[in-house]
Amino acid sequence: MLLLACGDRRAAVCPACAERYRRDTWHVVAAGLRGRAPSVPGGPDAVPDSVAGHPVVLATLTAPSFGAVHRAGARPCRKRVGPLVCEHAMRAWCDERHGDGERLVGRPLCWDCYDYSGHVLWHSAVPELWRRTVIYTYRALARLGSARSGIPITVRTVREQLRVSFVKVAEFQRRGAVHLHAVVRLDGVAGEGVAAPPAWADSALLEDAIRDAAGRVAVSLPVGGRVARWGEQLDVAPIADPARAASYLAKYATKTAGDVLSGLPPRRFGRREVGRISRRVDNPHTMLLVLACLRLSRTPECAGLRLAEHVHMLGFRGHFATKSRSYSVTLGTLRGVRRAWRARERAERVGAADPWAGQDEGTVVVRDWRFVASGWARLGDADLAATLARDHAAMRDAEDLVTVARAGDLW
Ligand SMILES: [Zn+2]
Ligand SMILES: [Zn+2]
Ligand SMILES: [Zn+2]
Repeated sequence: MLLLACGDRRAAVCPACAERYRRDTWHVVAAGLRGRAPSVPGGPDAVPDSVAGHPVVLATLTAPSFGAVHRAGARPCRKRVGPLVCEHAMRAWCDERHGDGERLVGRPLCWDCYDYSGHVLWHSAVPELWRRTVIYTYRALARLGSARSGIPITVRTVREQLRVSFVKVAEFQRRGAVHLHAVVRLDGVAGEGVAAPPAWADSALLEDAIRDAAGRVAVSLPVGGRVARWGEQLDVAPIADPARAASYLAKYATKTAGDVLSGLPPRRFGRREVGRISRRVDNPHTMLLVLACLRLSRTPECAGLRLAEHVHMLGFRGHFATKSRSYSVTLGTLRGVRRAWRARERAERVGAADPWAGQDEGTVVVRDWRFVASGWARLGDADLAATLARDHAAMRDAEDLVTVARAGDLW
């Protein structure tokens, strides 16, 4: 029997593997912002330093309002405007100043006013909203580029000269809706490699184009002629500190909805488990979203949205972290490079080739593996692993402190 790391991205499932995933994600994001030297000779993980000169922004796209919720912050939660109560006789205002950790934050002022179906349906449209936002960004680059330079630039020219590269992560907010944080970079088009974009395409143009695209994009939903759009709150800003931006994105890459909405499991669950889950979820808002998702999943109109498979993400079926092909190295490449580096290091240390590297002639490769189980066979093993993981984490934190002190970086 061979023990392997599970490799799970989610900190709620496996803290050790998630920590590695977070660090790898950091490298993927950072490499796309400042380039990357190959870590093994001729490594496939190299990204040219010239990317540091490309126009790049950090964009945050938000969900629209599905109903007033309690907000944390220094200002009073909800001002009195209009009627004092809603049609369900619930108070329509709140003059408290909520702290971040308060249970009330993210919960609606009125459960009946809150549009639970709209929330879940919007989640189901987020991947398509993003896909169209990228397409609309190309169009906006042509339109705004023409207006600025005075030379007519067609969408076709833009596609021939520019590529919109990105890496993005999803963040669940307290109200249970996702935000997308995306690093968006403009590249020139030159075969497979990464080239500098033409001079007319600068950061300011990219910023305006994303704002324009996010404001226009819409996806029609299968229920009641509804349309999904981004929320009004849109943040697009240049990136001053690549390491900080990379940390910011990497932090969200290991999260699940349950990290914010406590009690919500990180894995898929069905109708029969709702009773058990509702005992662990102390927030009625979360349960109402779960029930809305389950209810919609049974309607014929929503059959294509695969809601039943994504109840644990409240209907959001996108990936938590994705990147366009040419943005940077892939996580798979980083893993491959790490394997190669380890094999080399072991060979130098032990003086023998690593049979797992499998490159030597005459190595017999056994491919007949069968999955037995995940977890530990004995309690003693589990205990030992937990102790080692703790020590390891403490060591990593100490190393991080040293690095921070030395480089002034975030880690
Ligand atoms: Zn693991
Ligand atoms: Zn409030
Ligand atoms: Zn109401």
